[in-house]
Amino acid sequence: MTTFTFAVPDHVKPIRTKVRDFIEQRIYPVENEIDAGRREIIGELMQEAKKQNLWALGHPKEIGGGGLPFLDYVYVNEVIGRSEYATVALGTHSLQDSIMLNLYASDEWRERYLKPLVEGEIFPSFAMTEPDVASSDPTQLQTRAELDGNEWVINGRKWFTSGASVAAYTTVMVRTEPPETPDHMAFSMIVVPTDTPGYTIVRDTPVMGHHGAHCEVVYDNVRVPKDNLLGPRGHGFVIAQERLGPGRIFHVMRWLGQAQRAFDLMCDRANNRVAFGEPLANKQLIQKMVFDSYAEIQACRLMTLHAASIIDRGDQARVEIGSIKVVAASMLHNVIDRAIQVHGAKGLTDDLPLQRMYRAARAGRIYDGPDEVHIWSVARRLLGVYRKGESWDFGSR
Ligand SMILES: Cc1cc2nc3c(=O)[nH]c(=O)nc-3n(C[C@H](O)[C@H](O)[C@H](O)COP(=O)(O)OP(=O)(O)OC[C@H]3O[C@@H](n4cnc5c(N)ncnc54)[C@H](O)[C@@H]3O)c2cc1C
Repeated sequence: MTTFTFAVPDHVKPIRTKVRDFIEQRIYPVENEIDAGRREIIGELMQEAKKQNLWALGHPKEIGGGGLPFLDYVYVNEVIGRSEYATVALGTHSLQDSIMLNLYASDEWRERYLKPLVEGEIFPSFAMTEPDVASSDPTQLQTRAELDGNEWVINGRKWFTSGASVAAYTTVMVRTEPPETPDHMAFSMIVVPTDTPGYTIVRDTPVMGHHGAHCEVVYDNVRVPKDNLLGPRGHGFVIAQERLGPGRIFHVMRWLGQAQRAFDLMCDRANNRVAFGEPLANKQLIQKMVFDSYAEIQACRLMTLHAASIIDRGDQARVEIGSIKVVAASMLHNVIDRAIQVHGAKGLTDDLPLQRMYRAARAGRIYDGPDEVHIWSVARRLLGVYRKGESWDFGSR
């Protein structure tokens, strides 16, 4: 187990610096081209990252990854976050899906998908959300799978399946159990290769004017072998929860990397742009933006590393994880928004990455559970402690 510190530990610094240099020198200059649709550049970056031994650093060694311990990898994620294209370029995008396959897939699917997945030769996708029900309450999901002999037959409609247009397979969350089953044990995850008959992408849903990432998919009598089930029947939510905990730490560390990039841009601009006879940096209203951003980033970083240390001890850290998801999403949104404001009109242009970062940050308050759901769930847990006559002892965490 790595000892937890707020500063990056010395033994992590060399690999973290190497990753940061790669991102700043190789990825930053081509971000606009990738954004404009030149996806082949990502393939070139992937090859280069492999050559430099920067590939899939956090994946366990036994499935072909770099095997960095959880806490070490947390700090590396902070610099990976600086560019939204870095996760794919460095092969870290498949971490959660490959761990899920490794733990729960049948031998056949592990053989077929795991190696190419970790190598970045194929892409995964994950389908939970549906257009017709409030999917932040996933017990309402309507997509069903019935067992017919040795096959699951899946019917339903999903949307916001990120990456579906390039994915080799989708892990789909479906109701498999009879109506009398308690909701939390009624759903399962099933692997569906995207070339299965009846699986049809009906729409690439534009998000804030941007195309190419999130798809609406119809499942019309999609038949897959019985063994495509991940884990036991009815364990869909259990597996989803395992997927989400450490995943949220990595997400939030990447958001902290984005916030650092926005903060750097904001402070440089404030020092260098002159208005009304002095640098913007001399104006108190601008200083307030710098202060607020500093305080929000710092508070969020401390909370996130603290949550990571609790997860590293083997606790699910439900209160801490739910809290950082909310605090981090709003921190990121606020810091990028202020950085745009300090740049004036330039902040909205493609000359800077801020407009792209802002779009992604806005979505962060919705995906992986909207803010309100996490707030509700964290508050219920805290109040529940008091209902039992105890208190939430901050010092004991
Ligand atoms: C960029 C992006 C990528 C995504 N990628 C994927 C993906 O790959 N796979 C996938 O399955 N899904 C994905 N999603 C979907 C995402 O997970 C859902 O949008 C999210 O779970 C919310 O579900 P919903 O959109 O149905 O909102 P709803 O459930 O309809 O909720 C709408 C609003 O209701 C409010 N609300 C809900 N519950 C409560 C409550 N308890 N208290 C107070 N207010 C509440 C919140 O304000 C919430 O925003 C993605 C979404 C985005 C934006």
